[in-house]
Amino acid sequence: MFLARFLLPMSAFTIAIYAESEQLGLLNNLSLPVYVQIIVSFILIDLAGYLFHRISHTNSILWRFHLVHHSDTNVDVSTSIRHHPVELFITMMFYSIVIVLLGAPLISVIFYEIFRSIISAFSHTNIKIPSSIDRLLRLVIVTPNFHCMHHSAIKLETNSNYSNALSCWDYLFSTYNNNAPENISLGLEYFRSDRDKFIDRLITQPIRYKKP
Ligand SMILES: [Zn+2]
Repeated sequence: MFLARFLLPMSAFTIAIYAESEQLGLLNNLSLPVYVQIIVSFILIDLAGYLFHRISHTNSILWRFHLVHHSDTNVDVSTSIRHHPVELFITMMFYSIVIVLLGAPLISVIFYEIFRSIISAFSHTNIKIPSSIDRLLRLVIVTPNFHCMHHSAIKLETNSNYSNALSCWDYLFSTYNNNAPENISLGLEYFRSDRDKFIDRLITQPIRYKKP
C-alpha cells in the first residue's frame, strides 16, 4: 500500500516539479494556456498508461511481474494494490519518463494520480452496478464490469479491456470486450491453489512462472 499509494505518486510529483523548473518536455516549451496543458497531459498520461499495460501483457519479462496482479482468483478492491514491488518500480520509471517528455504540469499529475487511484479502487470492487448505469459510466470511465473481463482466467478475455481510468482507449484501439462477466472464472490458468495466496509464493511468482 505504501509503495502503490504513496511512493509512486510522490515520485511522479517530484519529477513534474523538476521538469517544470528545468523547462523540460513538450508542454513546457509550447506557449499553450495552462488549462489546455492540464487537459492534454491528463489525457496523454492515461494513454501512456494504457499502452504500458498492453505491453505488460505481451512482453515476457513485464508479464512475469504483472501476472501477480492477475493471479488473484477473488478480485476485489484489495486487488487494486496487489502489485509486485518490481512492477511498481518499473511503472514508476515509466511514468517519470512520460511526465518529463510531456513536461506535464504538477497540478495535472496530481489530478491524474487522484483520479486514477479512485478509478482503480472502484474498477476492482466486487459490487454489482445496475447495467443501465454501467452502460453510461463505461462510456467514460472503467467500471467494475468493464474491468472484470480483464481478470478472466481465459487468456483471450484477459487480453482485452486494458484501459486504466478513461475507457476510450479500448474503444479506439479495438481491445474492448463487451461480454457480460456472468459466472466468470477469475485469476489465471495457473497459480490457483490456496498455497499460492501466501506472500512468499506471490513474491516469487515471477521466477516460478513457466510459459504454458
Ligand atoms: Zn493487466
